[in-house]
Amino acid sequence: MSENSRKIGFFKVLFIFIFLWGSSVALAPAKAKAESAESLYTKAKHSFYQLKGSPDKMARRDQWINTVDDFLKVYHSNPKSYPAYKAIFTIGKLYEGLYQISKNPKDSDLALGYYGKLLQEFESDRLKDDALFRRGEIYFDRGHYTLAEKEFEKIVREYSRGDRSSEARQRLKQIVALSPNPSQIEVAQTPLQATAPVAPPAVEKKVAKKEEVKTKADSELLLAQLEQLSPVAGVGIEAKPSAPVSSTPVEKVEPAEKKVAEKKVPLVILDPGHGGKDLGAKGKHGVVEKELNLNLAKKVKAILEKEYKIRVHLTRSDDTFIPLKERGPIANGMKADLFVSLHANAANREAAHGIETYYLGRGLSEQAKETAARENGDLVYSIPDDQTQQILADLISNNKMNDSSRLAGRVQRYLYQKAKKRFKKVKNLGVKEGPFWVLHDTNMPSILVEVGFVTNAKEEARLKDEKYLDLLSEAVAKGIRDFLHENGPMI
Ligand SMILES: [Zn+2]
Repeated sequence: MSENSRKIGFFKVLFIFIFLWGSSVALAPAKAKAESAESLYTKAKHSFYQLKGSPDKMARRDQWINTVDDFLKVYHSNPKSYPAYKAIFTIGKLYEGLYQISKNPKDSDLALGYYGKLLQEFESDRLKDDALFRRGEIYFDRGHYTLAEKEFEKIVREYSRGDRSSEARQRLKQIVALSPNPSQIEVAQTPLQATAPVAPPAVEKKVAKKEEVKTKADSELLLAQLEQLSPVAGVGIEAKPSAPVSSTPVEKVEPAEKKVAEKKVPLVILDPGHGGKDLGAKGKHGVVEKELNLNLAKKVKAILEKEYKIRVHLTRSDDTFIPLKERGPIANGMKADLFVSLHANAANREAAHGIETYYLGRGLSEQAKETAARENGDLVYSIPDDQTQQILADLISNNKMNDSSRLAGRVQRYLYQKAKKRFKKVKNLGVKEGPFWVLHDTNMPSILVEVGFVTNAKEEARLKDEKYLDLLSEAVAKGIRDFLHENGPMI
Protein backbone atom coordinates (compact mmCIF):
# COMPACT_ATOMS: atom_id res chain seq x y z
CA MET A 1 0.00 0.00 0.00
CA SER A 2 2.89 2.38 0.55
CA GLU A 3 3.72 1.99 -3.15
CA ASN A 4 0.18 2.95 -4.03
CA SER A 5 0.21 5.92 -1.74
CA ARG A 6 2.89 7.56 -3.87
CA LYS A 7 0.59 7.42 -6.84
CA ILE A 8 -2.33 9.03 -5.07
CA GLY A 9 -2.13 12.65 -6.05
CA PHE A 10 -3.60 15.63 -4.39
CA PHE A 11 -6.78 15.57 -6.44
CA LYS A 12 -7.47 11.96 -5.68
CA VAL A 13 -7.18 12.70 -1.98
CA LEU A 14 -9.47 15.66 -2.45
CA PHE A 15 -12.00 13.51 -4.31
CA ILE A 16 -12.04 10.92 -1.55
CA PHE A 17 -12.52 13.66 0.99
CA ILE A 18 -15.37 15.34 -0.83
CA PHE A 19 -16.95 12.02 -1.60
CA LEU A 20 -16.94 10.92 2.01
CA TRP A 21 -18.95 13.94 3.00
CA GLY A 22 -21.48 13.61 0.26
CA SER A 23 -21.90 9.92 -0.07
CA SER A 24 -24.92 9.14 2.06
CA VAL A 25 -27.20 9.18 -0.94
CA ALA A 26 -24.76 7.56 -3.34
CA LEU A 27 -24.69 4.59 -1.00
CA ALA A 28 -28.45 4.19 -0.83
CA PRO A 29 -29.41 0.95 -2.50
CA ALA A 30 -30.83 1.26 -5.99
CA LYS A 31 -33.98 -0.50 -4.80
CA ALA A 32 -34.78 2.33 -2.39
CA LYS A 33 -34.53 4.89 -5.17
CA ALA A 34 -37.14 3.07 -7.18
CA GLU A 35 -39.62 3.12 -4.31
CA SER A 36 -42.10 5.93 -4.01
CA ALA A 37 -41.76 8.51 -1.25
CA GLU A 38 -45.15 7.38 0.01
CA SER A 39 -44.17 3.74 0.49
CA LEU A 40 -40.83 4.74 2.03
CA TYR A 41 -42.74 6.95 4.44
CA THR A 42 -44.90 3.99 5.44
CA LYS A 43 -41.72 2.01 6.16
CA ALA A 44 -40.20 4.88 8.11
CA LYS A 45 -43.35 5.13 10.21
CA HIS A 46 -43.07 1.44 10.97
CA SER A 47 -39.46 1.97 12.07
CA PHE A 48 -40.65 4.88 14.21
CA TYR A 49 -43.32 2.82 15.97
CA GLN A 50 -40.82 0.05 16.62
CA LEU A 51 -38.45 2.55 18.20
CA LYS A 52 -41.13 4.11 20.32
CA GLY A 53 -42.49 0.74 21.37
CA SER A 54 -39.19 -0.48 22.76
CA PRO A 55 -37.48 1.10 25.79
CA ASP A 56 -34.37 -0.91 24.90
CA LYS A 57 -34.27 0.67 21.47
CA MET A 58 -35.00 4.13 22.79
CA ALA A 59 -32.01 3.82 25.09
CA ARG A 60 -29.67 3.36 22.12
CA ARG A 61 -28.46 6.17 19.91
CA ASP A 62 -27.92 3.98 16.85
CA GLN A 63 -31.59 2.96 16.93
CA TRP A 64 -32.69 6.59 16.78
CA ILE A 65 -30.25 7.25 13.95
CA ASN A 66 -31.57 4.23 12.04
CA THR A 67 -35.06 5.68 12.23
CA VAL A 68 -33.77 9.11 11.21
CA ASP A 69 -32.10 7.45 8.22
CA ASP A 70 -35.39 5.83 7.24
CA PHE A 71 -37.04 9.24 7.13
CA LEU A 72 -34.07 10.68 5.24
CA LYS A 73 -34.64 8.06 2.55
CA VAL A 74 -38.14 9.45 2.10
CA TYR A 75 -36.70 12.91 1.61
CA HIS A 76 -34.03 11.79 -0.84
CA SER A 77 -36.45 9.74 -2.91
CA ASN A 78 -38.46 12.85 -3.80
CA PRO A 79 -37.32 16.00 -1.97
CA LYS A 80 -40.24 18.13 -3.13
CA SER A 81 -42.97 15.68 -2.14
CA TYR A 82 -45.35 15.97 0.78
CA PRO A 83 -44.01 12.76 2.40
CA ALA A 84 -40.54 14.39 2.27
CA TYR A 85 -41.99 17.45 4.02
CA LYS A 86 -43.47 15.32 6.79
CA ALA A 87 -40.26 13.30 7.00
CA ILE A 88 -38.10 16.38 7.61
CA PHE A 89 -40.45 17.54 10.36
CA THR A 90 -40.39 14.09 11.94
CA ILE A 91 -36.58 14.05 11.90
CA GLY A 92 -36.67 17.31 13.85
CA LYS A 93 -38.94 15.66 16.41
CA LEU A 94 -36.73 12.58 16.58
CA TYR A 95 -33.67 14.68 17.36
CA GLU A 96 -35.64 16.53 20.03
CA GLY A 97 -36.64 13.20 21.55
CA LEU A 98 -33.07 11.95 21.35
CA TYR A 99 -31.81 15.15 22.99
CA GLN A 100 -34.13 14.58 25.94
CA ILE A 101 -32.21 11.38 26.64
CA SER A 102 -28.69 12.17 25.43
CA LYS A 103 -28.55 15.80 26.64
CA ASN A 104 -26.04 16.28 23.84
CA PRO A 105 -26.50 19.85 22.53
CA LYS A 106 -25.65 18.67 19.03
CA ASP A 107 -28.88 16.67 18.96
CA SER A 108 -30.76 19.81 19.84
CA ASP A 109 -28.85 21.69 17.10
CA LEU A 110 -29.85 19.01 14.62
CA ALA A 111 -33.51 19.40 15.58
CA LEU A 112 -33.21 23.15 14.97
CA GLY A 113 -31.49 22.45 11.67
CA TYR A 114 -34.20 20.15 10.34
CA TYR A 115 -37.02 22.49 11.36
CA GLY A 116 -35.07 25.27 9.65
CA LYS A 117 -34.70 23.12 6.55
CA LEU A 118 -38.46 22.57 6.47
CA LEU A 119 -39.07 26.32 6.67
CA GLN A 120 -36.57 27.06 3.93
CA GLU A 121 -37.17 24.34 1.40
CA PHE A 122 -40.88 23.63 1.31
CA GLU A 123 -43.79 25.66 0.05
CA SER A 124 -46.61 24.06 2.00
CA ASP A 125 -47.69 25.87 5.16
CA ARG A 126 -49.20 22.87 6.88
CA LEU A 127 -46.37 22.25 9.36
CA LYS A 128 -44.57 25.57 9.30
CA ASP A 129 -46.13 27.03 12.43
CA ASP A 130 -45.34 23.76 14.20
CA ALA A 131 -41.72 23.94 13.03
CA LEU A 132 -41.45 27.56 14.17
CA PHE A 133 -42.99 26.63 17.50
CA ARG A 134 -40.57 23.77 18.03
CA ARG A 135 -37.63 26.06 17.21
CA GLY A 136 -38.98 28.61 19.67
CA GLU A 137 -39.30 25.95 22.36
CA ILE A 138 -35.75 24.69 21.81
CA TYR A 139 -34.31 28.21 22.06
CA PHE A 140 -36.51 28.89 25.10
CA ASP A 141 -35.25 25.77 26.88
CA ARG A 142 -31.69 26.75 26.17
CA GLY A 143 -32.30 30.21 27.57
CA HIS A 144 -31.83 31.96 24.22
CA TYR A 145 -34.88 34.11 24.79
CA THR A 146 -34.28 36.63 22.02
CA LEU A 147 -34.01 33.87 19.42
CA ALA A 148 -37.06 32.15 20.91
CA GLU A 149 -38.96 35.43 20.80
CA LYS A 150 -38.30 35.79 17.06
CA GLU A 151 -39.77 32.38 16.30
CA PHE A 152 -42.87 32.93 18.45
CA GLU A 153 -43.40 36.41 17.00
CA LYS A 154 -43.31 34.98 13.50
CA ILE A 155 -46.08 32.54 14.40
CA VAL A 156 -48.25 35.32 15.80
CA ARG A 157 -47.53 37.54 12.79
CA GLU A 158 -47.81 35.04 9.94
CA TYR A 159 -49.88 32.17 11.30
CA SER A 160 -52.30 33.99 13.57
CA ARG A 161 -55.12 31.60 12.67
CA GLY A 162 -53.01 28.48 13.15
CA ASP A 163 -53.31 26.16 16.13
CA ARG A 164 -49.94 27.29 17.53
CA SER A 165 -50.81 30.96 17.71
CA SER A 166 -52.24 31.06 21.24
CA GLU A 167 -49.36 29.00 22.64
CA ALA A 168 -46.89 31.32 20.94
CA ARG A 169 -48.58 34.37 22.49
CA GLN A 170 -48.39 32.71 25.89
CA ARG A 171 -44.69 32.06 25.48
CA LEU A 172 -44.08 35.67 24.42
CA LYS A 173 -45.74 36.82 27.65
CA GLN A 174 -43.50 34.51 29.65
CA ILE A 175 -40.41 35.84 27.92
CA VAL A 176 -41.43 39.39 28.75
CA ALA A 177 -42.12 38.35 32.35
CA LEU A 178 -38.68 36.79 32.64
CA SER A 179 -37.01 40.11 32.05
CA PRO A 180 -38.09 43.64 31.23
CA ASN A 181 -35.39 43.49 28.58
CA PRO A 182 -35.06 39.95 27.22
CA SER A 183 -32.16 40.84 24.94
CA GLN A 184 -30.00 41.37 28.02
CA ILE A 185 -30.60 37.79 29.07
CA GLU A 186 -29.45 36.62 25.69
CA VAL A 187 -26.05 38.25 26.11
CA ALA A 188 -25.47 36.35 29.32
CA GLN A 189 -26.10 32.97 27.72
CA THR A 190 -23.38 30.72 26.43
CA PRO A 191 -22.94 31.03 22.67
CA LEU A 192 -24.80 28.64 20.44
CA GLN A 193 -22.99 25.62 19.08
CA ALA A 194 -21.09 26.27 15.90
CA THR A 195 -23.49 23.98 14.08
CA ALA A 196 -26.60 25.81 15.26
CA PRO A 197 -28.50 26.91 12.20
CA VAL A 198 -29.33 30.52 11.56
CA ALA A 199 -32.89 31.72 11.82
CA PRO A 200 -34.94 30.65 8.81
CA PRO A 201 -35.84 33.17 6.12
CA ALA A 202 -39.22 34.85 5.88
CA VAL A 203 -42.02 32.37 5.35
CA GLU A 204 -44.35 32.78 2.40
CA LYS A 205 -47.99 31.96 2.76
CA LYS A 206 -49.30 29.50 0.21
CA VAL A 207 -52.65 27.88 -0.34
CA ALA A 208 -52.75 24.35 1.05
CA LYS A 209 -52.62 21.60 -1.54
CA LYS A 210 -55.24 18.93 -2.06
CA GLU A 211 -52.69 16.24 -1.34
CA GLU A 212 -52.29 17.56 2.17
CA VAL A 213 -55.94 17.12 2.97
CA LYS A 214 -55.74 13.54 1.86
CA THR A 215 -52.79 12.75 4.13
CA LYS A 216 -53.63 15.02 7.01
CA ALA A 217 -55.22 12.41 9.24
CA ASP A 218 -52.30 10.09 8.76
CA SER A 219 -49.83 12.89 9.39
CA GLU A 220 -51.61 14.00 12.53
CA LEU A 221 -51.63 10.51 13.92
CA LEU A 222 -47.88 10.34 13.56
CA LEU A 223 -47.47 13.81 14.99
CA ALA A 224 -49.57 12.86 17.97
CA GLN A 225 -47.30 9.90 18.56
CA LEU A 226 -44.28 12.13 18.24
CA GLU A 227 -45.65 14.62 20.73
CA GLN A 228 -45.44 11.91 23.35
CA LEU A 229 -41.77 11.38 22.63
CA SER A 230 -40.86 14.83 23.71
CA PRO A 231 -41.76 15.88 27.24
CA VAL A 232 -41.48 19.49 26.09
CA ALA A 233 -44.42 19.20 23.75
CA GLY A 234 -47.83 20.32 24.83
CA VAL A 235 -46.80 21.99 28.08
CA GLY A 236 -46.64 25.45 26.57
CA ILE A 237 -49.54 27.10 28.32
CA GLU A 238 -49.04 25.59 31.75
CA ALA A 239 -45.27 25.96 31.92
CA LYS A 240 -44.03 28.54 34.38
CA PRO A 241 -40.84 30.52 33.91
CA SER A 242 -39.67 29.41 37.35
CA ALA A 243 -39.83 25.78 36.26
CA PRO A 244 -38.06 25.52 32.90
CA VAL A 245 -39.59 22.83 30.71
CA SER A 246 -36.19 21.29 30.05
CA SER A 247 -36.09 20.04 33.63
CA THR A 248 -39.25 17.98 33.14
CA PRO A 249 -38.23 14.44 34.04
CA VAL A 250 -38.27 11.94 31.19
CA GLU A 251 -40.13 9.12 32.80
CA LYS A 252 -39.09 6.45 30.37
CA VAL A 253 -35.36 7.11 30.47
CA GLU A 254 -34.51 5.96 33.95
CA PRO A 255 -36.09 2.49 33.77
CA ALA A 256 -34.86 2.05 30.21
CA GLU A 257 -31.28 2.74 31.23
CA LYS A 258 -31.45 0.36 34.15
CA LYS A 259 -33.04 -2.34 32.10
CA VAL A 260 -30.43 -2.11 29.37
CA ALA A 261 -27.56 -2.00 31.83
CA GLU A 262 -28.81 -5.17 33.47
CA LYS A 263 -29.80 -7.09 30.41
CA LYS A 264 -27.72 -6.12 27.48
CA VAL A 265 -24.17 -7.32 26.90
CA PRO A 266 -22.50 -4.83 24.58
CA LEU A 267 -21.36 -5.97 21.16
CA VAL A 268 -18.06 -4.72 19.74
CA ILE A 269 -17.07 -5.16 16.11
CA LEU A 270 -13.32 -5.49 15.58
CA ASP A 271 -12.25 -4.90 12.01
CA PRO A 272 -8.80 -6.26 11.11
CA GLY A 273 -7.86 -4.01 8.18
CA HIS A 274 -7.17 -5.42 4.69
CA GLY A 275 -7.00 -9.20 4.02
CA GLY A 276 -6.75 -11.59 1.09
CA LYS A 277 -5.43 -9.85 -2.03
CA ASP A 278 -5.18 -6.59 -0.10
CA LEU A 279 -1.96 -6.92 1.92
CA GLY A 280 -2.03 -3.46 3.46
CA ALA A 281 1.30 -1.90 4.37
CA LYS A 282 4.48 -3.97 4.07
CA GLY A 283 7.64 -3.63 6.10
CA LYS A 284 11.11 -4.37 4.74
CA HIS A 285 11.68 -7.09 7.30
CA GLY A 286 8.64 -9.26 6.90
CA VAL A 287 5.72 -7.55 8.63
CA VAL A 288 2.60 -7.68 6.46
CA GLU A 289 -0.14 -5.41 7.73
CA LYS A 290 -3.10 -7.72 7.03
CA GLU A 291 -1.49 -10.47 9.16
CA LEU A 292 -0.57 -8.13 11.99
CA ASN A 293 -4.09 -6.64 12.06
CA LEU A 294 -5.72 -10.08 12.29
CA ASN A 295 -3.30 -11.20 15.00
CA LEU A 296 -4.10 -8.08 17.05
CA ALA A 297 -7.85 -8.42 16.51
CA LYS A 298 -7.83 -12.00 17.81
CA LYS A 299 -5.86 -10.95 20.88
CA VAL A 300 -8.20 -8.03 21.61
CA LYS A 301 -11.22 -10.30 21.13
CA ALA A 302 -9.89 -12.83 23.64
CA ILE A 303 -9.34 -10.15 26.29
CA LEU A 304 -12.72 -8.47 25.77
CA GLU A 305 -14.57 -11.78 25.96
CA LYS A 306 -12.67 -13.43 28.81
CA GLU A 307 -11.82 -10.50 31.06
CA TYR A 308 -14.59 -8.03 30.39
CA LYS A 309 -17.43 -10.32 29.28
CA ILE A 310 -18.08 -8.17 26.22
CA ARG A 311 -19.39 -9.75 23.02
CA VAL A 312 -17.07 -9.45 20.03
CA HIS A 313 -17.45 -10.09 16.33
CA LEU A 314 -14.62 -9.87 13.79
CA THR A 315 -15.35 -8.58 10.28
CA ARG A 316 -12.89 -11.27 9.15
CA SER A 317 -11.42 -14.08 11.23
CA ASP A 318 -9.11 -15.38 8.50
CA ASP A 319 -7.21 -14.13 5.46
CA THR A 320 -10.31 -13.11 3.50
CA PHE A 321 -10.69 -10.05 1.31
CA ILE A 322 -13.66 -7.95 2.41
CA PRO A 323 -14.30 -4.71 0.50
CA LEU A 324 -14.17 -1.59 2.65
CA LYS A 325 -17.74 -0.64 1.86
CA GLU A 326 -19.03 -3.94 3.27
CA ARG A 327 -17.37 -3.57 6.66
CA GLY A 328 -19.48 -0.80 8.18
CA PRO A 329 -22.75 -2.45 7.11
CA ILE A 330 -21.68 -5.63 8.94
CA ALA A 331 -21.58 -3.63 12.18
CA ASN A 332 -24.89 -1.89 11.38
CA GLY A 333 -26.57 -5.18 10.57
CA MET A 334 -25.52 -6.65 13.90
CA LYS A 335 -26.58 -3.49 15.72
CA ALA A 336 -23.17 -3.28 17.34
CA ASP A 337 -22.30 -0.75 20.04
CA LEU A 338 -18.80 0.03 18.81
CA PHE A 339 -16.67 -0.39 15.71
CA VAL A 340 -12.87 -0.55 15.97
CA SER A 341 -10.75 -0.93 12.85
CA LEU A 342 -7.18 -2.14 13.46
CA HIS A 343 -4.32 -1.09 11.19
CA ALA A 344 -0.60 -0.48 10.94
CA ASN A 345 0.79 2.61 9.32
CA ALA A 346 3.17 3.31 6.46
CA ALA A 347 4.87 6.44 5.19
CA ASN A 348 7.23 7.42 2.43
CA ARG A 349 9.49 8.95 5.04
CA GLU A 350 11.16 5.99 6.78
CA ALA A 351 11.77 8.01 9.94
CA ALA A 352 8.03 8.42 10.53
CA HIS A 353 6.94 6.42 13.59
CA GLY A 354 4.46 6.45 16.45
CA ILE A 355 0.97 5.38 17.49
CA GLU A 356 -2.20 7.23 16.54
CA THR A 357 -5.96 6.75 16.66
CA TYR A 358 -8.44 8.24 14.23
CA TYR A 359 -12.12 9.03 14.19
CA LEU A 360 -14.09 10.22 11.19
CA GLY A 361 -13.52 13.86 10.39
CA ARG A 362 -12.32 16.18 7.72
CA GLY A 363 -8.67 15.25 8.08
CA LEU A 364 -7.22 18.68 8.52
CA SER A 365 -3.54 17.72 8.44
CA GLU A 366 -1.71 16.54 5.33
CA GLN A 367 -0.56 13.46 7.22
CA ALA A 368 -4.14 12.53 8.17
CA LYS A 369 -5.17 12.91 4.53
CA GLU A 370 -2.27 10.77 3.37
CA THR A 371 -3.05 8.01 5.87
CA ALA A 372 -6.73 8.08 4.95
CA ALA A 373 -5.92 7.98 1.24
CA ARG A 374 -3.73 4.94 1.80
CA GLU A 375 -6.30 3.11 3.91
CA ASN A 376 -9.10 4.03 1.53
CA GLY A 377 -7.16 2.43 -1.32
CA ASP A 378 -8.73 2.93 -4.72
CA LEU A 379 -12.22 3.62 -3.47
CA VAL A 380 -12.89 6.72 -5.49
CA TYR A 381 -16.38 7.30 -6.77
CA SER A 382 -18.17 10.06 -8.57
CA ILE A 383 -19.07 13.04 -6.47
CA PRO A 384 -22.73 13.85 -5.91
CA ASP A 385 -23.09 17.53 -6.68
CA ASP A 386 -26.18 18.18 -4.59
CA GLN A 387 -25.10 20.50 -1.82
CA THR A 388 -28.00 19.53 0.37
CA GLN A 389 -26.80 15.96 0.42
CA GLN A 390 -23.43 17.12 1.62
CA ILE A 391 -24.95 19.22 4.35
CA LEU A 392 -27.07 16.31 5.53
CA ALA A 393 -24.10 13.98 5.51
CA ASP A 394 -22.28 16.58 7.58
CA LEU A 395 -25.07 16.82 10.11
CA ILE A 396 -25.39 13.10 10.58
CA SER A 397 -21.68 12.58 10.88
CA ASN A 398 -21.27 15.37 13.43
CA ASN A 399 -23.70 13.49 15.56
CA LYS A 400 -21.46 10.45 15.83
CA MET A 401 -18.27 12.43 16.15
CA ASN A 402 -18.43 13.21 19.87
CA ASP A 403 -18.62 9.62 21.01
CA SER A 404 -16.05 8.45 18.50
CA SER A 405 -13.50 11.04 19.56
CA ARG A 406 -14.02 10.08 23.20
CA LEU A 407 -13.54 6.39 22.39
CA ALA A 408 -10.41 7.26 20.40
CA GLY A 409 -9.10 9.20 23.40
CA ARG A 410 -9.53 6.25 25.76
CA VAL A 411 -7.86 3.77 23.42
CA GLN A 412 -4.99 6.06 22.46
CA ARG A 413 -4.17 6.87 26.10
CA TYR A 414 -3.86 3.19 26.99
CA LEU A 415 -1.88 2.40 23.84
CA TYR A 416 0.74 4.96 24.78
CA GLN A 417 0.83 3.89 28.46
CA LYS A 418 1.14 0.18 27.66
CA ALA A 419 3.71 0.67 24.90
CA LYS A 420 5.85 2.64 27.37
CA LYS A 421 5.91 -0.40 29.64
CA ARG A 422 7.83 -2.33 27.00
CA PHE A 423 9.92 0.41 25.37
CA LYS A 424 11.34 3.62 26.78
CA LYS A 425 10.82 5.76 23.73
CA VAL A 426 7.35 5.68 22.25
CA LYS A 427 5.95 8.42 20.07
CA ASN A 428 2.39 9.42 20.91
CA LEU A 429 0.90 10.88 17.72
CA GLY A 430 -2.41 11.34 19.51
CA VAL A 431 -6.05 11.32 18.46
CA LYS A 432 -6.84 12.72 15.02
CA GLU A 433 -9.67 13.28 12.60
CA GLY A 434 -9.41 11.66 9.20
CA PRO A 435 -11.67 11.00 6.19
CA PHE A 436 -11.66 7.20 6.43
CA TRP A 437 -14.16 5.35 4.31
CA VAL A 438 -14.56 2.48 6.75
CA LEU A 439 -15.64 4.84 9.56
CA HIS A 440 -18.22 6.62 7.45
CA ASP A 441 -20.82 3.91 7.02
CA THR A 442 -21.26 2.87 10.63
CA ASN A 443 -24.11 4.01 12.87
CA MET A 444 -22.16 3.64 16.09
CA PRO A 445 -19.03 5.22 17.63
CA SER A 446 -16.18 4.14 15.36
CA ILE A 447 -12.42 4.50 15.39
CA LEU A 448 -9.40 3.39 13.40
CA VAL A 449 -6.21 2.51 15.27
CA GLU A 450 -2.77 2.75 13.66
CA VAL A 451 -0.52 0.79 16.02
CA GLY A 452 2.77 1.82 14.42
CA PHE A 453 4.67 2.34 11.17
CA VAL A 454 5.87 -0.85 9.49
CA THR A 455 8.01 1.37 7.25
CA ASN A 456 10.12 2.38 10.26
CA ALA A 457 12.76 -0.30 10.96
CA LYS A 458 12.64 0.11 14.73
CA GLU A 459 8.87 0.07 14.93
CA GLU A 460 8.60 -2.86 12.53
CA ALA A 461 10.86 -4.86 14.85
CA ARG A 462 8.60 -3.97 17.79
CA LEU A 463 5.53 -5.09 15.88
CA LYS A 464 7.07 -8.57 15.54
CA ASP A 465 7.36 -8.84 19.34
CA GLU A 466 4.38 -10.87 20.62
CA LYS A 467 4.70 -9.46 24.13
CA TYR A 468 4.47 -5.95 22.74
CA LEU A 469 1.42 -6.95 20.69
CA ASP A 470 -0.16 -8.40 23.85
CA LEU A 471 0.29 -5.03 25.56
CA LEU A 472 -1.19 -3.15 22.61
CA SER A 473 -4.16 -5.53 22.58
CA GLU A 474 -4.72 -5.02 26.29
CA ALA A 475 -4.66 -1.28 25.66
CA VAL A 476 -7.31 -1.42 22.94
CA ALA A 477 -9.49 -3.70 25.09
CA LYS A 478 -9.17 -1.43 28.13
CA GLY A 479 -10.02 1.65 26.12
CA ILE A 480 -13.14 -0.07 24.80
CA ARG A 481 -14.12 -1.25 28.26
CA ASP A 482 -13.68 2.23 29.76
CA PHE A 483 -15.78 3.78 27.05
CA LEU A 484 -18.59 1.25 27.42
CA HIS A 485 -18.42 1.54 31.18
CA GLU A 486 -18.79 5.32 31.08
CA ASN A 487 -21.49 5.20 28.48
CA GLY A 488 -23.33 2.08 29.31
CA PRO A 489 -23.99 0.56 25.93
CA MET A 490 -26.42 3.41 25.53
CA ILE A 491 -26.66 6.88 24.19
ZN1 LIG B 1 -4.29 -0.40 6.89
